[in-house]
Amino acid sequence: MQRRSLLKLGAALPLTLSMPAHLAARVMSPFARVRPKDPYWPTPAQWAELEAAVGGNLLQPQALFAPCVADAGGAACAAVARNQRNPFWIGDQPAGTQVSGWLDAWTPQASAYAVRARHSQDVAQAVSFARRHNLRVVVKGGAHSYLGTSNAPDSLLIWTRALDDVRLHDDFVAEGCAGRVAPQPAVSLGAGCMWADAYAAVTTRAGRYVQGGGCTSVGVAGLVLGGGFGSFSKGFGNAAAGLLEAEVITADGKARIVNACRDPDLLWALRGGGGGTFGVVTRLTLRTHPLPEFLGSAWGTIRANNDATFRTLIARFVAHYSERLANPHWGEQVKVKPDNSLELSMVQQGLSRDEARAVWQPFFDWVKASADLKITDELGAGGHKAQSWWEIQGNPSMIRDMRPGASPDHGYWKGDQDQVGGYLHGYDSLWLPAALLEPSAQPRLAGALYAASRHKEVELHINKGLAFATPAAIKASLDTAMNPGVTDAFALAIIADGEQPSYPGESRPPMDTDAARRDAREIAAAAAELRKVAPQAGSYLTESNFFNERWREDYFGPNYPRLKAIKKKYDPEGLFIVHHGVGSEEWSADGFTRLR
Ligand SMILES: Cc1cc2nc3c(=O)[nH]c(=O)nc-3n(C[C@H](O)[C@H](O)[C@H](O)COP(=O)(O)OP(=O)(O)OC[C@H]3O[C@@H](n4cnc5c(N)ncnc54)[C@H](O)[C@@H]3O)c2cc1C
Repeated sequence: MQRRSLLKLGAALPLTLSMPAHLAARVMSPFARVRPKDPYWPTPAQWAELEAAVGGNLLQPQALFAPCVADAGGAACAAVARNQRNPFWIGDQPAGTQVSGWLDAWTPQASAYAVRARHSQDVAQAVSFARRHNLRVVVKGGAHSYLGTSNAPDSLLIWTRALDDVRLHDDFVAEGCAGRVAPQPAVSLGAGCMWADAYAAVTTRAGRYVQGGGCTSVGVAGLVLGGGFGSFSKGFGNAAAGLLEAEVITADGKARIVNACRDPDLLWALRGGGGGTFGVVTRLTLRTHPLPEFLGSAWGTIRANNDATFRTLIARFVAHYSERLANPHWGEQVKVKPDNSLELSMVQQGLSRDEARAVWQPFFDWVKASADLKITDELGAGGHKAQSWWEIQGNPSMIRDMRPGASPDHGYWKGDQDQVGGYLHGYDSLWLPAALLEPSAQPRLAGALYAASRHKEVELHINKGLAFATPAAIKASLDTAMNPGVTDAFALAIIADGEQPSYPGESRPPMDTDAARRDAREIAAAAAELRKVAPQAGSYLTESNFFNERWREDYFGPNYPRLKAIKKKYDPEGLFIVHHGVGSEEWSADGFTRLR
């Protein structure tokens, strides 16, 4: 039929309000998902049907600070104020987001409706309802998206928080793989679990290791789907590399068990191809590993008296990294700061206290011998028995969720407190190639770090680049959808800044948006200095620049065409669209209108 005659038909449609929304949408031009004000928005009776189908678990989420807008002096507002710095509380709110927004990028907005899924059937009901009624869908687990991809106005939210089963396996064999894949130890996690749940079960209680994320309140599904790194990824690979099996509800409403033997292409896409893109994962099964005997850290801050000495300090650290730390043991962060200080906040796996100290001694001796360097935070290194690493009780580095009835397994690192609810002015990241550690290239790397630090603090996340990882970790990580350039990078450089929480409706001093934009420009200038020495560098999907126009190449490298083909196969109509997700280039920025 001619497009023009379809449009004429569309003009006559008020007579045919009962026409299914997905058919109605096809007669509109361009194709657009429906919003509450649109004629094809589901009727109250249709919403009631969905509510019944999901056992009453249909919610109309309110913005986090809605109680304060309604009554600033009321008890509900006081509860928000009391809890808003607790990441577990934020995650328990249907409209909660761990980031309160990003200047000129996104602002948290509650969905029109949310299904609080209790099992995969609830998810299947929600997906089918959204497809039938042509709704914009968002999926939320731990709510830690920096890019704002787990919230959207006028959408139906599928919220996995309540899917929190954890099951350990001694001899896991994926469905349909008997006789084809050897049994192996694993853990199955409901998609609503956070890493705190996984580490409590796998490490603290069972004495094994699972590769997850550093921040304990991050959702397991969002992290694995994005690729995911934890402190010790150089020893075990990215988190996606450990994904053996997933239960996923695809756009057709079908619950699939995907693994190496069933829908292996979809399994590969779920390994780092991005959250909210290929379907709704309801359960993940991840490989577990023997726990290293020791886990430990290295810490301290050194400040240089002048710029020249700071350049020398950076160069000496780069050389020390290259000589002693470029191996599977060491991960986490080194910060190169505008005030001419270098902050060490690194961790290690597999070294005893004495071994860890021996690694650092030459560097610490060199620092102490310099009259122009001041130790502003004591330097040290150590290691201790691994099993208590994530234990919350009695751990001075952890803050426990103290709400009545909260899980005793829920605690977060003190160092993560500042990020809770933070508002971003800007954020950028790039993988720094290991080739920059060659002796002849080290001066360029050190020079670029120095130049970048004149604009902003540069964080080197050593664990988020997989050069110098174990051969097994590299091999497994290359079997994921993440940009393979990650295995050539010794670190992910992150440059980001922002300010105190600024949720819509929150009472706080007005934001100085001019200053915030200046800050964003400084972030861009710092990243540009690093790109001078790493012009082809990719970037880590979930910790990246919202405005990055090269996102396809940067996140996925040569994997993008394969991911796009898998997206077309499992989600041909684009039900699952997120900002800078596979296939999103075919949709408007708000995810409502198909462009081509
Ligand atoms: C404070 C903080 C600390 C962080 N620390 C780390 C870290 O240590 N290591 C690291 O690698 N990353 C880290 N990240 C980034 C984090 O891993 C990603 O943002 C991740 O995607 C968050 O997952 P989530 O479930 O918590 O978030 P959500 O916002 O709920 O989800 C993130 C994305 O995944 C999708 N998604 C979530 N659940 C599902 C599901 N079940 N099925 C399909 N799609 C789903 C969402 O639609 C969304 O697009 C951190 C982020 C923050 C804000």
